[in-house]
Amino acid sequence: MFVFMLVPGKLLLEHALANHYAVGAFNANNMEQVQAIMDAAAETQSPVFIQVSRGALKYSRMIYLRNIIQAAAEEHPEIPLVMHLDHGNSLETVKQAIALGFTSVMIDGSLDETGKIPLSFVDNIKVTKAVLDYARPLGVSVEAELGTLGGIEDGVGSGQVHVTDPAQVVEFIKQVPVDSLAIAIGTSHGAFKFKEKCTLALDVLKDIHQKVPNLPLVMHGSSSVPAELVAQVNKYGGKMPNARGVDIEQLKQTPQYGVTKINVDTDGRIAITAAIRKFLVEHPEKFDPREYMTPARDALKEVVKARMIAFGAAGQAKYLTPNPSPK
Ligand SMILES: [Zn+2]
Repeated sequence: MFVFMLVPGKLLLEHALANHYAVGAFNANNMEQVQAIMDAAAETQSPVFIQVSRGALKYSRMIYLRNIIQAAAEEHPEIPLVMHLDHGNSLETVKQAIALGFTSVMIDGSLDETGKIPLSFVDNIKVTKAVLDYARPLGVSVEAELGTLGGIEDGVGSGQVHVTDPAQVVEFIKQVPVDSLAIAIGTSHGAFKFKEKCTLALDVLKDIHQKVPNLPLVMHGSSSVPAELVAQVNKYGGKMPNARGVDIEQLKQTPQYGVTKINVDTDGRIAITAAIRKFLVEHPEKFDPREYMTPARDALKEVVKARMIAFGAAGQAKYLTPNPSPK
């Protein structure tokens, strides 16, 4: 049997930190999404995280998605690929993911196990430490979260925003030296993030990076919700008024201050939906899923490619340890 290696997250993030770019982390739930993300990575020669939420694991019944991501590694052994658990809620969930072969896990100790109620700093440290103690000896990278993002996605989110306190970061990392840390500096999950134009708290980010310069930082909720895609959804029968995201020009400034991983989920969802809506309206006689999933996959690929280029990850694959040959 061929086993295609997935890379630990730490490897990519340390390279990104040293070279001032961010790796794109894209959520997937099915084959077409995994293919689109991988095609984008191959075409731009970018390292990449394919990340899977608890909702995605449930939807895909665990092993399906794992095997599809394995297939992506098999198809493109030249692309450093991380299979990452997004918003793990407990040690139990992390253990499941690691048993499935995930090479990176997030433990979101900013919220309780239901993913809705903020946890105290002390309880966050407690659950993060339990995960770190379990994952590190197995070579699996650990992402933690400090501060809470706005917005709710896949049932995760308290709906409240607490911008990360730089002084707390120092204390947190001292107690639990995780491989990367998700911080809250004004981004938010979902498509309806902001009433007004979003402004990231870059001053807070700078302060954090100055205090812990060797720590790879992560930004969640960083979809930009492109107006043209939202317009396409609405033109073909959708209803997404007032959808608004993070300005890409602001995101592009963050890797110089230690941001090494930028999570994008919503943009891909909108791209897929816009493409399917358009196709079905224009071809009411068609009913073969392949015919509308093909433009959907292409649309997602274009969004992912654009983000990889914007984050500076394009062309970086060759500098990382390539996927070892099949053993
Ligand atoms: Zn998130």
